[in-house]
Amino acid sequence: MRIAMISEHASPLAALGGVDAGGQNTHVAELAAALAGQGHDVRVYTRRDSADQPALVPMRDGVVVAHVPAGPPEPLPKDELLPYMRDFSRWLVDEWRGDEWVPTVAHAHFWMSGLAAVTAGRQTGVPVVQTYHALGSVKKRHQGAADTSPPKRIGYERALGRAVDRVVVQCQDEVRELVRMGVPRTRMALIPSGVDSERFTPEGPAEPRDPDRPRILTVGRYVERKGFADLIRALRIVPKAECVVVGGPPAAGLEADSFAGKLRRLAESAKVADRVRLVGAVPANEMPRWYRSADVLATAPWYEPFGLTPLEAMACGVPVVGSSVGGLTDTVVDGLTGDLVSPRDPRSLGMALRRVLGDPVRRFAYATAALDRARQCYSWRRAAEQLSAVYEAVGELRRPAGAAA
Ligand code: UDP
Repeated sequence: MRIAMISEHASPLAALGGVDAGGQNTHVAELAAALAGQGHDVRVYTRRDSADQPALVPMRDGVVVAHVPAGPPEPLPKDELLPYMRDFSRWLVDEWRGDEWVPTVAHAHFWMSGLAAVTAGRQTGVPVVQTYHALGSVKKRHQGAADTSPPKRIGYERALGRAVDRVVVQCQDEVRELVRMGVPRTRMALIPSGVDSERFTPEGPAEPRDPDRPRILTVGRYVERKGFADLIRALRIVPKAECVVVGGPPAAGLEADSFAGKLRRLAESAKVADRVRLVGAVPANEMPRWYRSADVLATAPWYEPFGLTPLEAMACGVPVVGSSVGGLTDTVVDGLTGDLVSPRDPRSLGMALRRVLGDPVRRFAYATAALDRARQCYSWRRAAEQLSAVYEAVGELRRPAGAAA
């Protein structure tokens, strides 16, 4: 099949760790590669955010990244991209109406990609599959007035759920949210993200560490909802342990970064500054070294649509202590591969970390079960196989161009 993946803000070629570059970029890159590995021809459409980006960039055998001119060719926050989605979809229509590359199916990632894909799909007859990655209703619930998403997002997401041919959801919690929004369960296919268990392994080089000091690792973009502040507060009741924070701007930009400054001030007032280390963004290929150096991955989000970092840690044989939210409630088995605690509750988080760090037998049992679960249950190959079946089913729906979806 010819598979068009649309990922308007999250390029599979981008460096990760910044505010708008994380799980979706990894997800799109890994899925595109796994689908190509099955013999499909994949083209990933992402917004051109720099004037010197070539129109087409080969990513690997069977995957090409197409840079779509929509809006100024410069980085923009994703919450400012909606006005450019019309140009994005026009560009897709021109390409899909030509004879150079006409997709069998389009798979949109994030709601704005969905809008562009549905509009282009209606004009060209290409069926559309949607993955939300995150939902505006959940974001609003947790962030309230601090949510910078366009106000129409929630309504568009609800409408998309009925306009697309199939919705691919990533976890049970997302199924519940979508049902509440009125998206029929029969339109959904539950296909969780995977992890590359050849790259994320317990064996291999690890970042140096002090063997006498337990290491808690946490990984994520510098956004409030990742709960780094709760983790720093939790550290007060976890004796001796150091907390290593990976993500955010590149190391050279940490000094001037306001979020980093906030975390440092919090660590000082909590009297744990000597035990908190901000590393900054780490290239994707160096991530396994950081996981391997840790005794436990702590992840304390307020909400988490899926959460790749817990799976990556598990595949490296590292137990997870995390918030009992979103995708974590599927990936982490509480009491077996780690511990789940209430979000925004530093005391429960600290107690769980103290318990797991103070009990090597428990840690070993969690690590073994975590590794087994990541390897057995979550692979990109399996996700690609399940997706192929969805694409085949909707591919048969190819409508005459111009027909209503
Ligand atoms: N990541 C990375 N370098 C960093 C920070 C994160 O390569 O400095 C990667 C991490 O390995 C994972 C992704 O970014 O693949 C983050 O995905 P997750 O689903 O945990 O969070 P999201 O960014 O989607 O909120």
